[in-house]
Amino acid sequence: MMARLVHLVGIALLTGVASASGQDPGTLNPTSLPPLAHPDPPAKELFARKTKPVPLAARSIGFYSKGCLAGAVALPINGSTWQVMRLSRNRNWGHPKLIAFLESLASKGRKVGWNGLLVGDLSQPRGGPMLSGHNSHQVGLDADIWLTQMPDRTLSREEREFMSAVNMVREDRLDIDPQVWTPERTELIRAAAEDPNVERIFVNAAIKKALCRDAGPDRDWLAKVRPWSGHDYHFHVRIYCPADSPQCKPQSPPEPGDGCGHELDYWFSDAVLHPVPSLEPARPKPPLTLADLPVECRTVLMEP
Ligand SMILES: [Zn+2]
Repeated sequence: MMARLVHLVGIALLTGVASASGQDPGTLNPTSLPPLAHPDPPAKELFARKTKPVPLAARSIGFYSKGCLAGAVALPINGSTWQVMRLSRNRNWGHPKLIAFLESLASKGRKVGWNGLLVGDLSQPRGGPMLSGHNSHQVGLDADIWLTQMPDRTLSREEREFMSAVNMVREDRLDIDPQVWTPERTELIRAAAEDPNVERIFVNAAIKKALCRDAGPDRDWLAKVRPWSGHDYHFHVRIYCPADSPQCKPQSPPEPGDGCGHELDYWFSDAVLHPVPSLEPARPKPPLTLADLPVECRTVLMEP
């Protein structure tokens, strides 16, 4: 099956969440990257070449969009209630707290009628910036979860690389697509948000609007669920800095309230939904170098 390649460009300065697209296809023949010629390459080039974690105690180092990870563990690619997608990316690594959270969410999902999780990117084996897809996911505390549920069978390697997730957003971008959105999706996101380990969840604004409408009287969990560009096909869960990681930098708490009022208007404004292309292309930000990351990330990278 030919998967649709969707490029979603997001502004990601404040939260470090890029519009990563789980539906970008992978490959069945991953090749190793060529050696680096540049003396001070972008940090993403260095971290992308590390295929194994550092066997040190687990520690998330730095901020979600500027850091790295020691002692990562892998989410097994097959569980009874989850399967990992896009195996060629080797991004199913996280802090043990994140792995435990995902396993727990997968079984809570069953209780609300969600057959199982299809898990997209977590982090690279040593975290750090990535060659494609995200600004965050650098410290092993972020996970992308498809809004498509796991089928009742083990997916093939090929399906995991090329299967496309389903877009939940209506064509006019003002609401969810009622043909594909179901109450189980609301309940799965509620279960994630109610987990005390979870700091934030990012979804498309149309999805947030649907959650606001469907939440009912118990609405406290909505505060953690914030609108962000992209995230039409998946939701992004971010957990708190673990106690074993003193160098992990937390994100500031969300605004109080359920975020269902005027805060949402901006996302449905003409400027956001139908941006006028600017004549001068925006200058891309220079990529992070190793010097931009916490000094401990140098050790994480240099370990054999
Ligand atoms: Zn993400």
